[in-house]
Amino acid sequence: MRTKKDMIGSWLLEDNRHHLESLWKQADDIRRESTESAVHLRGLIEFSNECVRSCTYCGLRCQNRCLPRYRMTLPHIMACAEIAHAKGYGSVVLQSGEDQRVSAEWIGEIIRQIKDTYPLAVTLSVGERPVEDYRLWREKGADRYLLRFETSDDTLYRRLHPHDRSGLRRRIELLHVLRALGYEIGSGNIVGLPGQSFMSLAEDILIFSSLDLDMIGIGPYIPHPDTPLGREDIDFCQKDNRQVPNSDIMARKVLAITRLVCPEANIPVTTAFATANTNGYEIGLHTGANVIMPALTPPDYRKLYDIYPSPARKMEEGVHERIMTAIYAAGRKPGCGPGNRSRKSAVQ
Ligand code: SAH
Repeated sequence: MRTKKDMIGSWLLEDNRHHLESLWKQADDIRRESTESAVHLRGLIEFSNECVRSCTYCGLRCQNRCLPRYRMTLPHIMACAEIAHAKGYGSVVLQSGEDQRVSAEWIGEIIRQIKDTYPLAVTLSVGERPVEDYRLWREKGADRYLLRFETSDDTLYRRLHPHDRSGLRRRIELLHVLRALGYEIGSGNIVGLPGQSFMSLAEDILIFSSLDLDMIGIGPYIPHPDTPLGREDIDFCQKDNRQVPNSDIMARKVLAITRLVCPEANIPVTTAFATANTNGYEIGLHTGANVIMPALTPPDYRKLYDIYPSPARKMEEGVHERIMTAIYAAGRKPGCGPGNRSRKSAVQ
């Protein structure tokens, strides 16, 4: 009997254009049956690019001394939340590098002020912090937490995070902790990391399913020239063909298969996905995605939130309009309200 892993593996290796058309269609059909047709918008506020970590792929890593650092003030952050509300978005995502100089209390105060002022859901994406911090933020009203595990291959994870003693296991444990605290939990991976095998990519997707994730972020690896991994001259087309390419089509396959395996999850068209594809938002919406996260970070800061090189980051003027156009072009409309994960199967 064909297992789920066989099904995932054969789609990941599929290159026939007609067969892939049927994959996109299946993903779109399942998305239509299992989630609302509206596209939920989450306003992304990248409030700090300070980071204590050394992730070898990420431009925010603390060893990247070329990058000027910033941390937004509370009134600045509230001004972004105001824009999210005014544009009709149902939630905001507060994201940063692992900035350990921002106190749990300060983040708690941002959450409290946003929740007291606007009917917005609040998602946090600030990395690994003590469990007490997660508990405090939940008490202040935070609704969701995003923490990607990046890759399920333990050896690769260690290579990518050389100074990280806690490792992949801790990251997965924290997702369980966050769920137990009552958060909706989100995770995800990067597609085409140097050294990533098809087997481990199939395993990533199985883990999305076994964690029963509420949100799943998928994007292609985009090399950053000021990182150790970005400087490595890696041949993405190794002869034994076991290296996963970081191509737009590969990320699209992972997005579609994830929709097949996790029908009810909220799956965004991530910025990395939109960066790697022309018409990325529209393509993502046709391939199983049901969420978009427009950046609301003021342009002067946004260009310094340099996780990976992105031409889009330098011309974020008009991103809202571009996203609205893509939503209507895909025959959909923007959603209202917080856009929680649907659980149709639970309501029997
Ligand atoms: N500090 C937070 C947020 C990290 S930035 C945390 O640790 O969760 C959000 C995501 O950007 C990361 O989880 C990673 O998946 C992605 N990312 C970072 N560098 C990237 C690169 N070079 N290419 C593609 N995605 C990248």
